[in-house]
Amino acid sequence: MTAASTERSSSAPGSRGELVEVKDLTAGYGSLTALHEANLHIAEGEAVGVIGHNGAGKTTLLNSIFGVHRPTSGTVTYQGVTTGKPDAKDSIKRGMAMVPADQFVFATLTVRENLLIARSNTDAATAEWATERGQELFPVVWERLDQFAGSLSGGERRMLSVAMALMWRPKLMILDEPSLGLAPALAERVFDALKELSISAGLSVLCVEQSVPHLLRLADRVYIMRNGRIVDEQTADQLRARTEYWDLF
Ligand code: ATP
Repeated sequence: MTAASTERSSSAPGSRGELVEVKDLTAGYGSLTALHEANLHIAEGEAVGVIGHNGAGKTTLLNSIFGVHRPTSGTVTYQGVTTGKPDAKDSIKRGMAMVPADQFVFATLTVRENLLIARSNTDAATAEWATERGQELFPVVWERLDQFAGSLSGGERRMLSVAMALMWRPKLMILDEPSLGLAPALAERVFDALKELSISAGLSVLCVEQSVPHLLRLADRVYIMRNGRIVDEQTADQLRARTEYWDLF
């Protein structure tokens, strides 16, 4: 991030307990605008979900906030610092981690080697904290330390991905469809582990998910996207009171 692209927010969301504030974020691919003027906020320790139909712009929203995709306009304020050009390296340095929907682990390396790579930029105390939390939440990962990551099941790879992201002890964990390809029981374990981290470690979460019941194991609040726009916002209690969700998509 450059000095020109960054400024102290005059409203300093950190002072209101807000960790993230996204304003009028617009992004696209060539002539296609995939995300139109998105506005959202995430408080410290809050777990926020995003749902929407295929192609609604959910991944574009996450990528633009984290900085793996460059937005065309709008701003992201994180811990009181506002930028119009989020940058993934800088996001990691400032305490964000992202677990993308596609392959995040190094398939030809062992589980142990994947964890070692993830902890390579972390101090000893943080690595110890993350290892303890990882062992507690995902014991199956530590039972397979000498197995190639590519030979893990989809669910085990997801758990390894989250365990690797924990090595940065993030304040904000961004996840794109953590239940993708997982059996329901495994998906539930991943969501329950994230909820436990959100509560016990004060981790804030921004999570895209297609399954509302899974998301409700984690999220305090959910944004609904349609055709590249955030069109609604519901609390977890509002969603739980519904008997069906199809009309949200
Ligand atoms: P899904 O649930 O299917 O993953 P999504 O809500 O995450 O979808 P995005 O992946 O953000 O949606 O895509 C939003 C729009 O941008 C879609 O029309 C998609 O085809 C388009 N798009 C996404 N990535 C690219 C790209 N790299 N190049 C061109 N168009 C893209």
